[in-house]
Amino acid sequence: MTTTKPTALVVSAHSADFVWRCGGAIALHAQKGYDVTVVCLSYGERGESAKLWKQEGCTMERVKTERRKEAENAAKALGVHDIKFMDVGDYPLELSRDEKFELVDTIRAVQPKFMLSHSFVDNYNTDHSYATRVAIECRMIAQAWGHNPGEKVLGAPQLYLFEPHQTEQMEWKPDHFLDITDVWDQKWAAIQCMEGQEHLWHYYQNVAENRGNHFRRNSGGQSGGRNAKYAEGFKSVYPRTVDEL
Ligand SMILES: [Zn+2]
Repeated sequence: MTTTKPTALVVSAHSADFVWRCGGAIALHAQKGYDVTVVCLSYGERGESAKLWKQEGCTMERVKTERRKEAENAAKALGVHDIKFMDVGDYPLELSRDEKFELVDTIRAVQPKFMLSHSFVDNYNTDHSYATRVAIECRMIAQAWGHNPGEKVLGAPQLYLFEPHQTEQMEWKPDHFLDITDVWDQKWAAIQCMEGQEHLWHYYQNVAENRGNHFRRNSGGQSGGRNAKYAEGFKSVYPRTVDEL
């Protein structure tokens, strides 16, 4: 699946995380001509599907099917190029060596210009921080010339950590604000695809509005800043190499 278009890769612990946390970034980059691939390591079938489990006669297969359908609909609303479901199981999320190599294959095939994943700390949902460790580990393996020699090795894509739930508890502090005002309608449509987690819809609208305020302040505020209404925050992991500041 080699492409000449710029690409980005999202590593999402569960099948809905990418929507709340970086749906705007996905839609915006898709609009800019990027092929954005989303990898859902699990469906969040055990840990993030309470509303579905409260329905009578619910089964694991039904939860997974519903969660997959919701994620596919959201991905479509955001203009995702490809969404992959690894279905490795959640609570706890764990990848075997072979499953890590499968993710490395995807990273090498996509050759992302940048990657997105969770915060380093999440003591409420250890699947999230685990997904980030896996993303970093698999990024490293994808860079190794001795791993499947002959394949195109990975360069050094930035890894952006998207905003967690309960921000301050996760020791996460943004160093980037992305104006997603132009694609907010798409993110809102994607959020509404997450029918099993309706309690989060307005919370994440509120987060986007607050980050919009931070975008305005940090882009110059009343002395000429951009009038962003919605934004997303990101924390970068690796230094940027530049010719000019
Ligand atoms: Zn999650």
